[in-house]
Amino acid sequence: MTVPEITLNDGHSIPQLGFGLFRVDVDETQRIAELAIEAGYRHFDDAKIYGNEEGLGRAIAASGLPREDFFITTKLWQDDQGREAPHRAIDASLERLGLDYVDLYLIHWPHPSDGLAADTWLAFEEIRDAGRARSIGVSNFREVDLAELARRSSTVPAVNQIELHPRFQQRPLRAEQEGRGIRTEAWGPLGHGRYAAGELPEVVAIGEAHGVSGAQVVLRWLLQEGVIVFPKSSTAARIRENFDVFGFELSDAELATIRGLDDGTRVGRDPAEN
Ligand code: NAD
Repeated sequence: MTVPEITLNDGHSIPQLGFGLFRVDVDETQRIAELAIEAGYRHFDDAKIYGNEEGLGRAIAASGLPREDFFITTKLWQDDQGREAPHRAIDASLERLGLDYVDLYLIHWPHPSDGLAADTWLAFEEIRDAGRARSIGVSNFREVDLAELARRSSTVPAVNQIELHPRFQQRPLRAEQEGRGIRTEAWGPLGHGRYAAGELPEVVAIGEAHGVSGAQVVLRWLLQEGVIVFPKSSTAARIRENFDVFGFELSDAELATIRGLDDGTRVGRDPAEN
């Protein structure tokens, strides 16, 4: 199964489907990442705060696959924001991952109360220039945060990773990102464990029409909308199921039905509130 690649604004490309590592148990991470590699995933979305970079690094090393086959993202936590601290933070992440570079490094949250995001971004440019990250981007940035970065730097983030699932689709922010050349990554695509997006009745009905699960419908919907997505599961069968989303196509009417499910329900924290 070939995962489509998306070209980022810096010319690098990213596999559109990956595997998320939030709440993957530290002691289980290597085994679960190995299951994902075996299922075909090569794009992994990690973060310092998930505490499991070492396990992912061990799975990559044990795979015997060349480094270039993987696309590895990690994220800078807010206690490392600033003009200098990001340099230490990326070195520590790379050490834990056992890698010389990450493919994508993200500012995890804007944390507006600290006002350090734009300074952090200047450090991110240096990290990219030093080859420690191929691409740099942001996560949970609002329109106002993106505007502030644009005021301080000419480097446009490659991606903004935002909460995005059927009940919270963030259309205005996504349109703004598209205008700036920033690709959208979805976190919590299946409901972030707070609700089961694949069990919404409209989604289940679409799944029945195609002989696939509701979770597969939701992932397929995001892929057809051009969004980059990396569901998390710790169960072998679901890890495989979530990768098996290229054998069917949703119609325009089905896409419209899912678009109609947005009721503004946020399941994660509001970036404005910290
Ligand atoms: P998700 O929406 O991927 O949901 C994961 C949960 O959905 C699992 O725990 C499981 O209970 C369920 N699930 C998985 N596959 C299923 C299937 N096939 N059928 C039924 N249920 C299934 O939530 P997530 O982990 O929060 O988001 C995905 C990734 O996004 C994370 O692992 C992480 O990499 C990233 N993320 C980033 C941020 C951020 O602030 N940038 C926040 C949250 C998550």
